[in-house]
Amino acid sequence: MKKISLYVHIPFCEKKCFYCDFLSAPASVEEMEYYVNYLLREIREQSLFYGDRQVVSIFFGGGTPSILSSGEIVRILQQIRNCFLLAEDVEITLECNPGTVTSEKLYDYIACGINRLSIGLQSTDDEELARIGRIHDYAAFLKTYSLAREAGFCNINIDLMAGLPGQSAASYMRTLERVTGLHPEHISAYSLILEEGTWLYVNQSSYEFPDEEEDRKMYRLTGERLEEAGFYRYEISNYAREGWECRHNKVYWRRGDYAGFGLGASSMVSNIRWKNPEAQQDYVMCVKRMEDAQECTLAGSAFVKYLCKTGFHEVQVLTREEQMEEFMFLGLRLTEGVDRGEFKRLFGECMDEIYEKPIDKFLSAGLLEQEGERLRLTRRGVDLSNVVFTEFLF
Ligand code: SF4
Repeated sequence: MKKISLYVHIPFCEKKCFYCDFLSAPASVEEMEYYVNYLLREIREQSLFYGDRQVVSIFFGGGTPSILSSGEIVRILQQIRNCFLLAEDVEITLECNPGTVTSEKLYDYIACGINRLSIGLQSTDDEELARIGRIHDYAAFLKTYSLAREAGFCNINIDLMAGLPGQSAASYMRTLERVTGLHPEHISAYSLILEEGTWLYVNQSSYEFPDEEEDRKMYRLTGERLEEAGFYRYEISNYAREGWECRHNKVYWRRGDYAGFGLGASSMVSNIRWKNPEAQQDYVMCVKRMEDAQECTLAGSAFVKYLCKTGFHEVQVLTREEQMEEFMFLGLRLTEGVDRGEFKRLFGECMDEIYEKPIDKFLSAGLLEQEGERLRLTRRGVDLSNVVFTEFLF
C-alpha cells in the first residue's frame, strides 16, 4: 500500500516573535473556529485523492497549534481518521509553545493519539528570550516540559536557536547543558536567520549580534556537546537519541509523498508540488471550489489542471532532473546520505555517471565519503553543505 504523510498548518500565535516570518498571527476564538471548519472541509476533499494511502505520520505545525482548544485538535484528528487509513504506529506530532498548554490539554492530546510533542524553547536565558519577543521564560518552559512528561509524552523535541542578539558561546553552552540535562528524545538546533520584513530585521541596528567567530563557536558547540550527551546528528540541524528521529521530517528529506492542509501548506504527491493559498479569503474560496469541482483522479495533467483551476499556487510537475536534484540535496542533508541502488531504481541511471564531476570533486576534497552503496557528507562536508549542494543542481 502506498504511504503518505500529512501536515496540518495552524496559523495562530499569541503574539508575533520578533524574528518570525512564518504564516502566523494572533486571532480570536471565533476566527480560529471558522478556520478549523474550513480545514475539516479541506481534509475531506483532499482525501478523495489519496484516502487510499496509509498515513505514516501527521504533523501539526504553525504558528502555535497548542493555542487551539484541545477540542479543536481532537476534531481535526477525528476528521483525518474518518477520511484516511492510519498506520498502527503512526507518528503524530504537535508543536507547542511553553505556557500555551495545561495539564488537561496534554492529557487530551495523549488520549486522541498524539505521541510526539515539539516544544519551542529557543534559549534558556530569559533575557535572550525577551530580546527575540518570545512569550515565555525558561521557568514556563520547565513547567510545560514536566507537565508533558507527567501526561505521558515519551517522545519530546526541544527547538533551540543560536546566533540570537546578545547571545554568547558561554550562554549558549549553558542552554545546551540545561536542555541535555532534561533528557529529551530529540533536539533541533537552528541558527537565527534575519528574514527581511521581520521586526528584528527592521530594528537590527539596535541589537548586538554575535560576531562570526562567536557564531562558529556556537555551531561547533552544538555538535560536540549534543554528541557527548548521547544524541546523534541524523540531519544537519537535527539530533536524536538512537531510534527517536522525527519520522515526519525524514519523509521530506527522503522525498516521500506528503499532503498539507491549511493556509500556505505545501504538498508533494507523485512528483507534483503545489501550495495552498496564503490569504484566508483565497483559501476559503479554494476549499469551496474543491467541493464544487467535478470528480478528478490523481493523475498527470488532469490533476494539474484541477489544482490550477481550484486556486492552488505554485503548481509544478517535477521534471526528472528536478527529482534527481532533490534526491541528492535533500538526501545528503541526512547523515545516512544517499543510496546509489535507490537512485538507479528510481531513475534507471547510475548516480556516478550523472554526477561524476561533483562526486569526484568532493570525494577528493574530503567533503563526501562513501561506504558500500551509500554516499554521504563528511563532518567537514556538513559544515560546508551549501557549497556541496549547489553543485548537484543541473
Ligand atoms: S511562536 Fe513560532 S510561529 Fe509563532 S510567532 Fe513565534 S516563531 Fe512565529
